[in-house]
Amino acid sequence: MNSPGPLSKKMFAAANLVTPGGVNSPVRAFKNVDGEPFFVRRAKGSRVEDIDGKTYIDYIGSWGPNILGHAPAVIINTLHEVAKDGISFGIPNLFEVKMAQKIVEWVPSVEKVRMCNSGTEATMSAIRLARGFTGRDKLIKFDGCYHGHSDSLLVAAGSGALTQGNPDSAGVPKAFAEKTIVLPYNDPAALEAAFAAVGDEIAAIIVESYPANAGLVFPKPGYLELLRSITKKHGALLIFDEVMTGFRLGKAGVQGLENLTPDLSCFGKVIGGGLPVGAFGGRADVMDFLAPNGPVYQAGTLSGNPLAMAAGLAQLGELEKRGFERLDQLGAHFEAGLRKLLDEKGVPHRFNRVGSMFCLFFTDREIVNVKDVMQQDLELFRKFFWGCLDKGIYIAPSPYETGFISLAHTEPDLDDTLSVFEEVLRKI
Ligand SMILES: *Cc1c(COP(=O)(O)O)cnc(C)c1O
Repeated sequence: MNSPGPLSKKMFAAANLVTPGGVNSPVRAFKNVDGEPFFVRRAKGSRVEDIDGKTYIDYIGSWGPNILGHAPAVIINTLHEVAKDGISFGIPNLFEVKMAQKIVEWVPSVEKVRMCNSGTEATMSAIRLARGFTGRDKLIKFDGCYHGHSDSLLVAAGSGALTQGNPDSAGVPKAFAEKTIVLPYNDPAALEAAFAAVGDEIAAIIVESYPANAGLVFPKPGYLELLRSITKKHGALLIFDEVMTGFRLGKAGVQGLENLTPDLSCFGKVIGGGLPVGAFGGRADVMDFLAPNGPVYQAGTLSGNPLAMAAGLAQLGELEKRGFERLDQLGAHFEAGLRKLLDEKGVPHRFNRVGSMFCLFFTDREIVNVKDVMQQDLELFRKFFWGCLDKGIYIAPSPYETGFISLAHTEPDLDDTLSVFEEVLRKI
């Protein structure tokens, strides 16, 4: 069993006695790479240090939120200041209004927004809202898109494109899963067939604006536009899940890059500055269906708490100042070096990148959807992962995750990483 260090190994054994699988979120258990995780002692900038004293250049950034790098002074100082005046009130505070104003200013499709505590809550609530607003029950999602772990969304495709979904987790009632239609991504014909069959029963399509939880996959030209036009035509809502892409790829996320206007959008990760935050927003007429204005119930004891809002605002402020361009510049530097290296080595691969998000696939198949992502050389990935970890480079412990570069990364960090990649690939 691969394991990073003796202290981490011991702690993981202890954790397993008191927590299922030793972790509070499954991917952290390193099952996809047949091993055990390291435990973090501290993290700063582009680096994390484990309890055995080993340091890694980190390409996870807490799975997306830490876009400024770890423990940035601006967020630490903000938290210190704000906490002095109270941590949570459960009554309106100034920070939550500022945060809502900022989101409405940056994302043109969002006229009103509601804050919550995770990406899962955001998508779950947006779907309830879409159902309440349209008076319809059915939902379309795409195979390979992840939207958190609520019941309607842990659904796998049925045997045919039009069959109803099956629960993808024990504990999800079949009756819920049946309301979710799971379609292949990037397949216009499947989408058109679903709407031709049951178009007037569909409340919404939910889609990761750029799918980034089963590798990083891009929409074919015209595909997102088709999602927009077909939902409009059939009176369904279009929900963009920008929990990962929002505030990472620019002020308005993918919808800004692609110039599209969804009815509702979901956010998380970057807007919380590393604290637990989610948000969903969109058309005012739809959002006003939420309680207390409307009949769709949604609430949260800690929603909009001043610490989380202030941390998020501090993070967005830094992004605005130092620019999304810098992140793209770092991403481009990394991409150029990596492409050159992989071509020289003759390793069959595909590489997708947008801004500071990237994914390397060990396959030469064109990446259209999750079926192609599944064709990777998993054994090669495992060896590559452990080789990199051993040399102090921490990439995601799964071939289905997207990598993140932060503003704390430097060109020398990226070049050091590429040297390690070169060495590891030479040995396997
Ligand atoms: C991470 C993620 C979620 C879930 O967010 P949590 O905060 O983990 O609940 C939902 N959608 C997408 C696209 C994500 O990347």
